[in-house]
Amino acid sequence: MNITDHIIFIKGTDKGRYPYSNSLLVKDETTALIDAGAGEERMRKLATSEKIDLLINSHCHEDHIAYDNLFRSKVCIHKFEAPVLRSVKKLIELYCEEGSLIEEEMTIFIQNFINFDGIEVDLEFEEGYIFDLGDTQLKVIHTPGHSRGHSCFFDEKEKILFSADIDLTSFGPWYGAIDSNIDDFIASIKKIRRLKPEIIVSSHKGVIKEDIDAKLDIYLEKIYERENKILDLLQRERTLEEITKESIIYGDGKIPESLRWMYEPMERIMIEKHLGRLFKRGDIRRVDDRFSIV
Ligand SMILES: [Zn+2]
Repeated sequence: MNITDHIIFIKGTDKGRYPYSNSLLVKDETTALIDAGAGEERMRKLATSEKIDLLINSHCHEDHIAYDNLFRSKVCIHKFEAPVLRSVKKLIELYCEEGSLIEEEMTIFIQNFINFDGIEVDLEFEEGYIFDLGDTQLKVIHTPGHSRGHSCFFDEKEKILFSADIDLTSFGPWYGAIDSNIDDFIASIKKIRRLKPEIIVSSHKGVIKEDIDAKLDIYLEKIYERENKILDLLQRERTLEEITKESIIYGDGKIPESLRWMYEPMERIMIEKHLGRLFKRGDIRRVDDRFSIV
């Protein structure tokens, strides 16, 4: 689907739902592809039909980099994410602590998912870097929170933002990795709202043209809703395990049985990050391993 003369939306397999993601193709004097996780068939077709000069990665998660190795392009990613792209097994360390119960399953999962051990990174970018593609300039907007080097890309002239995993899905923000940060995520949502984009292309939702401010607000509000649910539960003392079992974030019915091993630890990490935030703010206390409201 063409968004402008130069910018083409590539919908991921299964509407770009995880484990797939949407891509953006910019065909200008320089041709650039943002993210390569739209599914094997779509990515293979693109790799053979187009000469892609730049492969720009929004961040290093498996559903965005899965087919990076199909392209003979200059590979670009934020400097904080580059080490994982160079050595994909580092991704496991972002999802589970060393020696954790799911380390082995996670290792197998990532190896099955990503067909390469690592690839060369040609360009490590930072906040404000501009990809000058001809008529089109894409500005790097560093938006940590989901991951440390998570980046969005903004075409200021056309007011089009590729927002990656600030994805505006009904699930809400995801911060289930060790390098995720809720405060940063909140700041990043506010940061992209201030850019006043007229079109947002997100990794798992697609092209969004209407009510962008309201949709960003609803998305942000999810974080506070989760926090309020946790505070409610902490009317009486509970452990991290007990709160995790309540499945506040993933919800009970939504988790495919085959992936339950992975979702529960991620729920735990996300709850833990909320507890850290609430504790720092003085809203909750901790006695031994039990939390409760102050
Ligand atoms: Zn991600």
